[in-house]
Amino acid sequence: MNGSSVKSVADLKAARLVAPDAELGAVAEKYAIGITPVVLDLIDPDDPDDPIARQFVPTASELTTTPEERTDPIGDLAHSPMEGIVHRYPDRVLLKAVHVCPVYCRFCFRREMVGPQGLGTLTAAELDAAIGYIATHREIWEVILTGGDPLVLSPRRLRDLMERLAGIEHVKIVRFHTRVPVVEPERIDDEMVAALTASGKTTYLAVHANHPRELTAAAKAGFDRMLAGGIALISQSVLLKGVNDDVETLAALMRGFVENRIRPYYLHHPDLAPGTGHFRVGIEEGQRLVQALRGRISGLCQPVYVLDIPGGYGKADIGAASITGSDGCFTVRDWQGDQHEYWSE
Ligand SMILES: *Cc1c(COP(=O)(O)O)cnc(C)c1O
Ligand code: SF4
Repeated sequence: MNGSSVKSVADLKAARLVAPDAELGAVAEKYAIGITPVVLDLIDPDDPDDPIARQFVPTASELTTTPEERTDPIGDLAHSPMEGIVHRYPDRVLLKAVHVCPVYCRFCFRREMVGPQGLGTLTAAELDAAIGYIATHREIWEVILTGGDPLVLSPRRLRDLMERLAGIEHVKIVRFHTRVPVVEPERIDDEMVAALTASGKTTYLAVHANHPRELTAAAKAGFDRMLAGGIALISQSVLLKGVNDDVETLAALMRGFVENRIRPYYLHHPDLAPGTGHFRVGIEEGQRLVQALRGRISGLCQPVYVLDIPGGYGKADIGAASITGSDGCFTVRDWQGDQHEYWSE
């Protein structure tokens, strides 16, 4: 395994991930670069279409933007009462303590906010205010730590944060959204697991992975450690052109999650982040893919296909409805595409 992370165009060239004369200065100026040693190991440098490289190695296509793209594609800012908090739905908030990640995904929906040039880490005062907000809003049942990647924080700082949430009685669930278990699995040691559960609340952790090759033996060791420590695992993936936009890859990814005791949760339609057009799959294509999973593989392996509606309107289930009709007469489509009539009061 290589020793250190790739963080610059020079590093990319040294690792032979891009051509020696590649012109990537303008991209690197706009968007952070980050590839961990574990991810480097997963890349096949001889495959020009490698689905892992495609997720992390910058390309000049990122400078091409389309009119519908937005710097805040899912409308976080419209629902942010203060630094670090996004409160879009009544019973749950996002708490974004950090805006850095161990890797930088080229399709990132928060790419304008993350990275060394991004929003940084909350100051102690901002974090106090964010925790105060959660404490005074009794309707908040769940706190979702995201970012950036919250697991870049040291176990000591995470434990600290968890212990502060422990004192807020109405909070019952703490959920983490992270790529660390896959891209930096060595961080998931006993100390980290203890920190993630230090609130005494129920801890859920959403593992972000997009290709079955990301579910390595090292990642599995981390999943097992978290499961043994009482953390419930769910999945989160983005549907990405050239990475996982075919039935075989998606089926293998979802089965991989289930084999690792990770319950498939969301398959995100790619957001309208600037310079990510080369990753976008059409909605009808996405619907065709998720329909093809239904029946073909176990019900345990079915993610919900969601779109985060631009403008801050939240997530919508955009899997094609398998039932249509009204006034008591319905048509239901089975997993092989055949239609059946169904009557109901
Ligand atoms: C995605 C998101 C959530 C979590 O939504 P779930 O459907 O509960 O997973 C919460 N708040 C915001 C602002 C979000 O974008
Ligand atoms: S890990 Fe998440 S927040 Fe970080 S770059 Fe990837 S998609 Fe964006």
